[in-house]
Amino acid sequence: TYALGPKIRNWDTERKTWLRKNPDYPNFLRGKPRILLLTGSPPKPCDNPIGDHYLLKSIKNKIDYCRLHGIEIVYNMAHLDMELAGYWAKLPMIRRLMLSHPEVEWIWWMDSDAFFTDMVFELPMSKYNGYNLILHGYPDLLFEQNSWIAVNTGSFLFRNCQWSLDLLDAWAPMGPKGPIREEAGKILTANLKGRPAFEADDQSALIYLLLSKKDKWMEKVFLENSFYLHGYWAGLVDRYEEMMEKYHPGLGDERWPFVTHFVGCKPCGSYGDYPVERCLSSMERAYNFADNQVLKLYGFRHRGLLSPKIKRIRNETITPLEFVDQFDIRRQPAGKM
Ligand code: UDP
Ligand code: MN
Repeated sequence: TYALGPKIRNWDTERKTWLRKNPDYPNFLRGKPRILLLTGSPPKPCDNPIGDHYLLKSIKNKIDYCRLHGIEIVYNMAHLDMELAGYWAKLPMIRRLMLSHPEVEWIWWMDSDAFFTDMVFELPMSKYNGYNLILHGYPDLLFEQNSWIAVNTGSFLFRNCQWSLDLLDAWAPMGPKGPIREEAGKILTANLKGRPAFEADDQSALIYLLLSKKDKWMEKVFLENSFYLHGYWAGLVDRYEEMMEKYHPGLGDERWPFVTHFVGCKPCGSYGDYPVERCLSSMERAYNFADNQVLKLYGFRHRGLLSPKIKRIRNETITPLEFVDQFDIRRQPAGKM
């Protein structure tokens, strides 16, 4: 069957040795695990040119979040393996980054159609000691309902370790484009509740793997649902004004969602499950909602959630350092923004 690459069996010891020999590249910095955020988009321009504009907004949003929180970022536009083109492209790239960056403790995949909408919230990494894969999901939807949306693969984290390489190997075989992906799609639709008939996708394949090999894998999988590591956009984007009135960034949950993910929107492609106009205006709102939190640091905000225009929210001063701490979100506990 299909393989992502030569089978690696001793990554944990090899990596440990490498880390010992390279103290200038530690996998923990100031007590925090080193995280690399990976995102990307197809190699060619979007079918719909406005899609490229939203890809730009989406990467700016991620650069802002990552800069503010000391996370490194990689943008991939290549298909490392033509067999795994499309939504499966994340698998070979995640594996490649683990092997090329042994100093990175976690690889965080994020879809191009997912935006950070809480620029203050930070992942509670200490909660994940002892786990190797962090997914947004619900145990009952997964194990009782076998739902095809029980977990979401638009925003998730893998620890850089042998277990993760093994899981990627077990996940990939349904991916190769053509008859394999087509036939696997039938198995997935037959086994997962609510799944329409279409070729195998990475999310369904992962759910199927976790369901069918629960004892082998679940011990190291953390199903996160106490905040929106992935948040389905439809229930969120119309409530941003209400959130701004009642709450503040740093909460990460339904009060102020960490991530807003435009599942079912295909602004870069030609078809999706929702009208493209609704998707684009909702993305615009999510982007500006997040950008307001960044602009606030610099004394500005958008005139409205649909407006690219900004306005000043405080006067310039001749003694900026007096106030610099007050506006730096890295220096204050969640909630003070
Ligand atoms: N993607 C990629 N290269 C491709 C196709 C997709 O890097 O050729 C990434 C992109 O970030 C996208 C994600 O894979 O958001 C999931 O793909 P999908 O087709 O599900 O797109 P979505 O609906 O998330 O936009
Ligand atoms: Mn997506």
